[in-house]
Amino acid sequence: MRLRNIPGAREAIAESPFVVHDEESMKGKWHDFFGNDNPIHIEIGMGKGTYIMESAKRNPNINYIGIEKYSSVLLRALEKREEESNLNNLIFIRMDAEYIENVFAPDEVDNIFLNFSDPWPKDRNAKRRLTSTRFLDRYEHIMKKSGKVTFKTDNNDLFDFSLESAKEKGWEIVIMTRDLHKSEYNEGNIMTEYEKKFSGLGHKINMMVIKMP
Ligand code: SAM
Repeated sequence: MRLRNIPGAREAIAESPFVVHDEESMKGKWHDFFGNDNPIHIEIGMGKGTYIMESAKRNPNINYIGIEKYSSVLLRALEKREEESNLNNLIFIRMDAEYIENVFAPDEVDNIFLNFSDPWPKDRNAKRRLTSTRFLDRYEHIMKKSGKVTFKTDNNDLFDFSLESAKEKGWEIVIMTRDLHKSEYNEGNIMTEYEKKFSGLGHKINMMVIKMP
């Protein structure tokens, strides 16, 4: 998702109390930031933030951090976030997840959510996929040993690639379904923007939950 450049997006983000701006200085200090020891869940590539906002509403005892690369997209999430200004367990960061190890210390993150991540279909861009072995390495460096990565997508090629990455790194496949909405795992499922769009077009939704070795 990349919306056209929105004039003033960067300025609006810079002024927002719902965005952490000096994210690298927070490394190892996220529990202090939230003022509690609750688990920390992050969503990488949250887009307009529908999923993470609903998650934060349903789970007040979990701290949520939404990561999005583009200002124009984050701005849309912020517009919704402002309507829920009482939520004190949700914050956003505008950054490229490539640098995630600069922002979180080892063992700081409990779970990671990847929803409808960009497929980067060309082979030469495979390392940019958020489920590539390169990214799984990064997640291993910031997640607790018990931590899990949950990944949803309608893109079968990306899903197959992700299963291969997980196997290559020796991660355990805890849950795997090729049709989430018809599976036993659908109860309590929160639909993302892309999930609503693509399931509306008749696409099946794949989901995996994986755990590092
Ligand atoms: N998760 C949302 C959903 O399911 O509706 C949005 C899906 S959209 C296809 C993927 C999003 O991930 C885009 O907003 C994109 O900007 C963001 N993204 C892609 N690569 C990223 C990266 N390396 N770091 C942070 N965000 C990224």
